[in-house]
Amino acid sequence: MDSATKNTYDAIVIGSGISGGWAAKELCELGLKTLVLERGRHVEHIKDYPTANTPPWDFKHRGRMPLSVLKENPYISKAAGYGEDNAHFFIKDKDHPYIQEKPFEWIRGYQVGGKSLTWGRACQRWSKHEFTNPEKFGYGIAWPIGYDDVAPWYSHVEKFIGVCGNKDGIEAMPDGEFLPPFEMNCVQEVISKKINENYPDRHLVHARWAHLTKPNKIHFEQGRVKCQARNMCMRGCPFGGYFSSNSSTLPWAKKTGNLTIRPFSVVHSIIYDEKLGKASGVRVIDTNTKEVFEYKARIIFLNASALNSNLILLNSTSTRFPNGLGNDNGLLGKYVAFQNYRASVGAEMDGFLDKYYFGRNPTELILANYKNLHKQETDYFGGYTTFMGAYRDQHQTDNSIPQIGDAYKDSLTKPGGWKLYMYMQGETVPRITNHVRLSEDQKDQWGIPLLITSVEYDDNDERMIQDFLKESKEMLEKAGCKNIETYENKQAPGLDIHEMGGCRMGKDPKTSLLNGQNQLHLCKNVFVTDGACMTSTGNQSPSILYMALTARAANFAAAEMKKGNL
Ligand SMILES: Cc1cc2nc3c(=O)[nH]c(=O)nc-3n(C[C@H](O)[C@H](O)[C@H](O)COP(=O)(O)OP(=O)(O)OC[C@H]3O[C@@H](n4cnc5c(N)ncnc54)[C@H](O)[C@@H]3O)c2cc1C
Repeated sequence: MDSATKNTYDAIVIGSGISGGWAAKELCELGLKTLVLERGRHVEHIKDYPTANTPPWDFKHRGRMPLSVLKENPYISKAAGYGEDNAHFFIKDKDHPYIQEKPFEWIRGYQVGGKSLTWGRACQRWSKHEFTNPEKFGYGIAWPIGYDDVAPWYSHVEKFIGVCGNKDGIEAMPDGEFLPPFEMNCVQEVISKKINENYPDRHLVHARWAHLTKPNKIHFEQGRVKCQARNMCMRGCPFGGYFSSNSSTLPWAKKTGNLTIRPFSVVHSIIYDEKLGKASGVRVIDTNTKEVFEYKARIIFLNASALNSNLILLNSTSTRFPNGLGNDNGLLGKYVAFQNYRASVGAEMDGFLDKYYFGRNPTELILANYKNLHKQETDYFGGYTTFMGAYRDQHQTDNSIPQIGDAYKDSLTKPGGWKLYMYMQGETVPRITNHVRLSEDQKDQWGIPLLITSVEYDDNDERMIQDFLKESKEMLEKAGCKNIETYENKQAPGLDIHEMGGCRMGKDPKTSLLNGQNQLHLCKNVFVTDGACMTSTGNQSPSILYMALTARAANFAAAEMKKGNL
């Protein structure tokens, strides 16, 4: 076999995280010899989860990070849940610089599995309104697809990854193929009931989570078993109790015999063949040796995570596309958006002191979006969902308990009163000014231009935050809570870890980069199916939509190849 043949595949997938894992699974099952290129190290399910069973007292710093590490990693160390138990699944800031024109704290996990190892696992479907409202209410362009196009693919993904939840029949949050939910605790039940009594159009219900509460045959076939409610997910789960690429899609793809994964392979760019008028392959740098390789394939799936996919496309220049692949309209890298996580509410609830709960439930409730669903009714655009949790304080904190002596020690061994919290996940408006671009003079250690991020919150977000705080406080007051506190953390974008856009889908090639099948309008054998493709952000957690879009596009691509169209 000559080297050209050796480096030739039917399909190349760039990135092995949540969306890349799905591309690999579908393409391999459809019979395509598929190469997955991953810039990070290999992480094998179970074997490479070094802290999965480590008890808290065996961590050198009891789970916290030393000040020196926090100082060296000012951005990544702010990621939700980051700590001594899982820092090995996050990058180190200094190894992967980028330029913040405006504060943007970019959270990345560079390894086989990407951020699927550390994600929060919330998996609600978008409603039809999230696809249509941006255009209808005048804050975005039309999506080329709607809910009905994705619904079967949501089902396809839900069945395979395992999503627990309840069928609630809520318009703003469609039902899917669910495993049973975790139980609500007594305070969650009460608040849910009270909110619905006081506001009939508001529903505080089980959110949907990629956890196996009652595994089916397909999950056992993946080697995964029931979630043990340990809530140690971000360390990697040896039970496969939650979905990650490492426990699910990648081993499944491997079983077909069609998968090759090449770790330590940073994709520099996609190669465009001017004669053929399509992409012919990718240029890769071995991260250890810095050797440059080229791999060829008939189709390329770009799944490097939203901003890295933008970077790769911007860096894929040719005589035909001097400004980046498919970028005739100059919009590549623009209309980057994210989700608004800046506000939360905390409160206490009297009573229920004879009640507790079983295990460490890794899920929360969700109050489905109740704003701007059917009409534009607020002074800001978009909607928000609200996550909610309730728990007993770790120990008694009653002021009457002495702070010294036997009584104090005794109080430390008993659970305290009930506390609860709510936090928002809000839609943001994609704006042309919120963008990423390449540095003209600064490069990373592999000679790839640094990404410049120029992304910020705006007045629309501020107004949404105020509305969330007012409404949430009022709901909790009416539900009988006390000591209600509101918080606004002023965090920079990026920390939401739901960055999207830059290579958006649309009907019109003049205003978008991708068509309704996630193909670049101008280079049809390149599919972008991670967050870069998002036309708007919606208010629901986005990753399951990336999975559904990826599965849909992969099946389309394989069918087109069979017909000889690609
Ligand atoms: C703490 C946390 C909580 C979260 N909670 C939720 C949640 O509850 N619900 C939800 O929907 N989402 C959640 N997310 C977001 C979710 O993880 C991402 O949306 C999702 O992982 C995106 O999938 P992806 O495939 O685009 O990117 P990733 O999973 O990040 O995978 C991208 C992969 O591409 C690789 N790569 C990057 N550049 C290159 C290159 N040039 N060459 C080769 N490989 C490259 C990376 O190393 C990585 O492995 C959370 C994330 C975190 C960290």
